[in-house]
Amino acid sequence: MTRIAVIDYDLCHPDKCGNFLCVRLCPVNRKGEDCIVRKDRQEGSAKKLRPFIIEETCIGCSICVNKCPFGAISIVNTPEQLKEEPIHRFGENEFVLFRLPVPVKGVVGLLGPNGMGKTTAMRLLSGQISPNLGKYGEDASKELARIHRGSELQSYFEDIAKEKKKTVYKPQQVSMLPKVASGTVSSFLSDEMIKKLELANCAGRDIGALSGGELQRLATGIALSREADVYYIDEVSSHLDVRQRINTAKIIRESAEDKYFMAVEHDLATLDFMADKIHVFYGVPGV
Ligand code: SF4
Ligand code: SF4
Repeated sequence: MTRIAVIDYDLCHPDKCGNFLCVRLCPVNRKGEDCIVRKDRQEGSAKKLRPFIIEETCIGCSICVNKCPFGAISIVNTPEQLKEEPIHRFGENEFVLFRLPVPVKGVVGLLGPNGMGKTTAMRLLSGQISPNLGKYGEDASKELARIHRGSELQSYFEDIAKEKKKTVYKPQQVSMLPKVASGTVSSFLSDEMIKKLELANCAGRDIGALSGGELQRLATGIALSREADVYYIDEVSSHLDVRQRINTAKIIRESAEDKYFMAVEHDLATLDFMADKIHVFYGVPGV
């Protein structure tokens, strides 16, 4: 795969750009070949006519990128060294992720700007979403061990497939917690965990009445209280002050002595304190 074309369909308004401006300007189209084509796209319950870029025939001239009045198109040339096929693609002309970080004993940190696929990588590794290896709509989970033959990920995926490894995922958006669960803090956490996370002052409070920082610590506590082999912790420090960040990072470090942890974290000091290894994500956000 030498070129990635992504269209942000939320920004694409073919009726407001002069009727598919990109389709009309693409030099490959003008030569009579198909490069940007009009096709139906399923959006909710309706099908809408949208532009689609055929990556194989695109020459990367960026005319469509520069001319689209809504900045809906991104064209990225992949680095020469990137020989392998994608791990996951959300759809045609949508975000694509190459490669996965490797979970190992201790804490593995994931670093990179937003929109680079860190959460997607953790959701793939924890089994929250099934990888499709770039073939939209297919479940390629069973092929993961084969394509990672010879690497540490091979045994990881074999164990996941045989249900020998149990995973826990702490989501990024803790504000959603009151929408999917109800009860007081003490109904979710042991007294010991409440003390460790400094939640004693709100132990009897209902989840719907907690602040962002309290919800963050509750979500982390719930994840850490579950019995698993691999813990995926998506952003642990948002809504927390510096002292609470260090305290939570300490608890994660203690828990990671004989377990596998992977953590997305934007606060460099917290990540440096927590992680034994760090994977750096590179690419173009959203692409
Ligand atoms: S991508 Fe831009 S130029 Fe192309 S149809 Fe959509 S709005 Fe028009
Ligand atoms: S970048 Fe590709 S799709 Fe866009 S105008 Fe050029 S050749 Fe066509």
